Amino acid sequence: MNIPKSNFPRIIIIGGGFAGISLAKELSKKEVQVLLLDKNNYHTFQPLLYQVSTGGLEPDSIAYPIRKVLKDYPNFFFRLANVEEVIPEKNELITNIGAINYDYLVMATGSETNFFGNKEIEKNGMVMKSIPESLNLRSLILENFEQALLTDDLHMRDALMNFVIVGGGPTGVELAGALAEIKKGILPKDYPDLDTRRVQINLVQSGDRILKEMSEKASKKAEDFLEELGVQVWKNTRVKSYDGKLATTQTELSFEAATLVWAAGVKGAAIKGLDAEELLIRGNRIKVNEFSQVIGHENIFAVGDVAGMELPDYPCGHPMMAQPAMQQGKNLGKNLTYLLENKPLKPFVYKDKGSMATIGRNKAVVDLDAYKFQGIFAWFVWMFVHLFFLIGFRNRMVVFINWVYNYVRFDREARLIIRPYKRDYTMFKEKS
Ligand SMILES: Cc1cc2nc3c(=O)[nH]c(=O)nc-3n(C[C@H](O)[C@H](O)[C@H](O)COP(=O)(O)OP(=O)(O)OC[C@H]3O[C@@H](n4cnc5c(N)ncnc54)[C@H](O)[C@@H]3O)c2cc1C
Repeated sequence: MNIPKSNFPRIIIIGGGFAGISLAKELSKKEVQVLLLDKNNYHTFQPLLYQVSTGGLEPDSIAYPIRKVLKDYPNFFFRLANVEEVIPEKNELITNIGAINYDYLVMATGSETNFFGNKEIEKNGMVMKSIPESLNLRSLILENFEQALLTDDLHMRDALMNFVIVGGGPTGVELAGALAEIKKGILPKDYPDLDTRRVQINLVQSGDRILKEMSEKASKKAEDFLEELGVQVWKNTRVKSYDGKLATTQTELSFEAATLVWAAGVKGAAIKGLDAEELLIRGNRIKVNEFSQVIGHENIFAVGDVAGMELPDYPCGHPMMAQPAMQQGKNLGKNLTYLLENKPLKPFVYKDKGSMATIGRNKAVVDLDAYKFQGIFAWFVWMFVHLFFLIGFRNRMVVFINWVYNYVRFDREARLIIRPYKRDYTMFKEKS
């Protein structure tokens, strides 16, 4: 990997997400050699992926080059690498670009989509965990409308314009709301020769309320907002199968749809060598103590989504969200310094700053510790917070300008099929 030898201890961070970047910043002035490895050369701001999928933002505006984050840090190195295995006995990592040794290792690999073992949905459903996946979804949505224009078969046309989103968490809710706004504001103008009133957006949630991590008031209001926008919310409904055409549920309800988006769960992205059953808690997260130290491994740590820190207040680990990831990264940065100075470590204490979700124009829900509010003010708060946490001045400006433009013009200009998604439509031509 061409990393020079150094007298400083070598810390390898796997993952330049929220946790990895916040840890790197904390270590920036310390006497350590840091190697950050990521399979992408950019950081992804995942909370805005749904806006890429729905043409509201260009992908570049929610990605940031990792090298640029590290450029002023002495003794920092970045390598574009996919880490395949950890060999703790040898303090060694195996990657697609070679092997390397570490003194300290930090797993900040985040999470991946959890299909709960359903191979059929994994094969036929769409996901939205990365920029390429969001671009696939954007292309598919637009290709469906282009196809719908070409067919005289009403049945097929309806299936092409039927969207099923599985999972009533923030991702599902935000995507459903954005699709509903496209249906209302953009499709009638773009496709005047298509009866876009027939577009259906179905949000399917297994539990009895959407946004179940938020207050009941926020759930109720979000559901009202979605219904106002014409989204059909199906609660207590579990999607069982999807063959690319028909989605079935545990009830008699089924959907004939060309698009099913799976937003029903994530699991920790543990890597071979640290994925033994006894090392993992529920959700495939690596068991760590309150100092983020992997149980049984003094020089290996895990932070962010992949870390399973079971504490009395968080018996299943912290929420898989950006705030805990950033706070854990920062705390570990301090603890690694204490460790090198033989000082006592500081346990991680999560400061919950609240949660929020947006449903559409002027429609958002915000739960803070002391205040819970919904509507236009919540929407402005949501926008401000997302702009604040985006990395890079240019990205903030581009996103801000896009949002102002979209708001004033009721538009989403990035509705482009740049990289077509290859979908087999023949199954819709066969009569059911
Ligand atoms: C669609 C969507 C919407 C979301 N909305 C919100 C929201 O509104 N608010 C909120 O707080 N949270 C939200 N989240 C969750 C939030 O994005 C995550 O909790 C957060 O990104 C976790 O940070 P992390 O650093 O642990 O992992 P990530 O940010 O996922 O970073 C992990 C990094 O590790 C790299 N990596 C993984 N495996 C390897 C490997 N083997 N080799 C090399 N590199 C690897 C990845 O490329 C990635 O850069 C959302 C997530 C998604 C998917």
